[in-house]
Amino acid sequence: MVLENRIIDQVKEIISRYPERGSALMPALDFVQEARGGSLSRDDLADVAAVVGVPKSRAFAVFSFYSMYRKEPPGREACPVDRELPGGRSEAARLIGSLARGEMPGKPSQWSVESMCGILIRSRGGESSPSIDDYVAAGGYAALDKARRMGADAVRAEVEASGLRGRGGAGFPAGTKWGFVSRAKGRPVYLICNADEGEPGTFKDRHIMEHDPHLLIEGMAIAALALGAAMGFIYIRGESASIARLLEKAVAEAEARGRIGRVPGFEIKVHRGAGSYICGEETALIESLEGKRGHPRLKPPFPAERGLYGCPTIVNNVETLACLPFIIGKGAAAFRKIGAAGDCGPRIFSVSGHVRRPGVYECPTGTPLRELLDLAGGVEGRLKAVIVGGLSTPILTAEEARSLRLDRDSCQRAGTMPGSGGVIVFAEGADVPSIALETIRFYASESCGQCTPCREGAHVISCLLEKAVDREASEEEVETIVRLCRTIKGTTLCPMGDSFSIAIEAMITKFGDEFAPR
Ligand code: SF4
Repeated sequence: MVLENRIIDQVKEIISRYPERGSALMPALDFVQEARGGSLSRDDLADVAAVVGVPKSRAFAVFSFYSMYRKEPPGREACPVDRELPGGRSEAARLIGSLARGEMPGKPSQWSVESMCGILIRSRGGESSPSIDDYVAAGGYAALDKARRMGADAVRAEVEASGLRGRGGAGFPAGTKWGFVSRAKGRPVYLICNADEGEPGTFKDRHIMEHDPHLLIEGMAIAALALGAAMGFIYIRGESASIARLLEKAVAEAEARGRIGRVPGFEIKVHRGAGSYICGEETALIESLEGKRGHPRLKPPFPAERGLYGCPTIVNNVETLACLPFIIGKGAAAFRKIGAAGDCGPRIFSVSGHVRRPGVYECPTGTPLRELLDLAGGVEGRLKAVIVGGLSTPILTAEEARSLRLDRDSCQRAGTMPGSGGVIVFAEGADVPSIALETIRFYASESCGQCTPCREGAHVISCLLEKAVDREASEEEVETIVRLCRTIKGTTLCPMGDSFSIAIEAMITKFGDEFAPR
């Protein structure tokens, strides 16, 4: 064994944090990689597998799947998430490339942060703050106390009555999802907060976690009470190490002050991913949390019936959980009064691209897009196109965006969706074929490889778009891209195949002239 005793002891401590040892594999690999100065040898992998108690082949499979594990120390071999995507031919392409690499528009400290409703941003009347004292002083954790008085059934009924829809992308009603939890005796229920915010153009959950972590923790405690959850996990993307540390500190404070303990037996663990976009899909996230490659599972069974460790599991996004203190504190009726019918409540949009003040903005659902863009300082130049729900949602032309409201029904009528709330703005001059190429390169590099239409289709579309960017693709080749997109739709195991297909198809059908041969 090449691992020193002090490292083995630390790996054993990591194992003790989880109900099942396999979940310790990735945190143990992170720890050993850091202890080794940034890389892992074959012997390290074999030793970690032996201490964790999983087959060596599993450690190698995990190592080769996630982009943050390295064979060589940083500097000798670039980490794929840091590597410049080739062919950033235009400013628009560079923008998509940088958003796809998880880079923020400017420094987070320079983002503009504003709220029209003061619920998720600067809630409780003051500046958002990671301090538990500030949170409690401003009335934080009072909703959790109220939830305890109400009892689990009443809390579930209140959340269902609020009409809260998931804020991660799919927009499924949260109360309905909770209702699917299978309550077979002897099986614990798990709650997972999906903080793997990897959809390019989306950085609003990050704001909540960095500036108001107790809003999320209180939301998780309320959800745990309603679901009877034994344990909660916050699965955060590996690249957000500093936010993960901040969350760990906030969870420890909430535990020390007896806040989390108000839900008997409940505890929260922060778990870091290791660089994989697809782990934002809930079943891939569960696989990853179990210490495996992030391969999406075939559904059904859905996680509410059989999720983490084969037990009923609810996966909710950060912003979704952060809405719960308001819903319980002020009541479902107050929540329903905010925003659009059928998709009510506040939403945080992250705005990037050609606007004067990129940042995060909280608005009631149904707010006109032009009001959001005004909040963001207006478009730099003349609006050409906009994506409103993250990179995987269909692009809109300026004309389609003119009267758009930011709620589910209005977006559907316009042929798109509010998705993850990642608004990417393009002014005149942005070159759509380059945007399409960077988009498909991102998805091709993140395909988990299980489905042929996704794995091969993304690659072929990428090759054809290379030619289209140079105006060298024939009309037939451009038609082939559209045909491939239509063929991929509905044939893949997880939503990723559909996502990139509809995004690329919309770019070509709406801006076809730019793809035509010279
Ligand atoms: Fe993996 Fe793509 Fe299939 Fe999803 S659609 S399971 S990412 S290959």
